Formats: sequence, C-alpha cells, structure tokens
Amino acid sequence: MPPARSWRAYPQVYRLEAARCKKCGKVSFPPRLVCNKCGEREFDRFNMKRTGKVVTHTIIRTPSDEFSGEAPFAVGVVEMDGGGRLTTQIADVSFDELKIGLPVQMEFRRLYTEGDAGVIHYGHKAVPIRQ
Ligand SMILES: [Zn+2]
Repeated sequence: MPPARSWRAYPQVYRLEAARCKKCGKVSFPPRLVCNKCGEREFDRFNMKRTGKVVTHTIIRTPSDEFSGEAPFAVGVVEMDGGGRLTTQIADVSFDELKIGLPVQMEFRRLYTEGDAGVIHYGHKAVPIRQ
C-alpha cells in the first residue's frame, strides 16, 4: 500500500471511525461525504464499538495473491453494537461454528505479508466471543 493511501485510511482503520448522518441517522463505515440514504452532507464522527454480530458470511477458498497463504478463511459482514457495518475476515472460528447472529469482537491482527521485503500489514479481524 502506498504511504499516502495508508495515511488517509488511518482513522478508519485504527479507530474504526464511522459517520452518523445528522439528518436520518444512517451510519456509514468508512465515512462518506454524502449520505447514501437521504443526501445529507453533515455527519457526526464516532468510533464504532468493537463488538457486534455476524449478519452474513462466506468461506473464501481462492483469495487474491496477498492472502493466498491464508485460504480457506471466513469473511463476513458484522453489524456493530451501536450502529455501523463492516466487511471483515472472521478468525479463530471453525466453519461449522459460523452462523448468522454469531457474537464477535474486533481484534487487531496481522492481515498479510507483502512482497519480498516482507512488509506486514495489520488490520481488524472479527473473532467469536465465547461465553
Ligand atoms: Zn442521511
């Protein structure tokens, strides 16, 4: 990832920063400039909670090159408690354990290693909350 792009993504990636529309309350993650529900341009920024529930999921068996060493792995959409949705890898889960409504929390993990220099990229992954 070029430095400029990773710098711009910083607040969202590291703090899970989302935007709540001041007019209709729709939560966007990553934040948008214009609400895709009502067209409003004013938002309140907030950091999403780190817990939520899986709303859809799938198993990736043939990923893009940088994730090829990880396959197969689970990816899903997580509805965060308090609002906001994100698409993320679901780690530390057996595939028959994956289900809609599964409680998860976001953890900061190594995502993949890039190129011969072995540049390591980090980001959030969802892991099941086990009682
Ligand atoms: Zn709106």
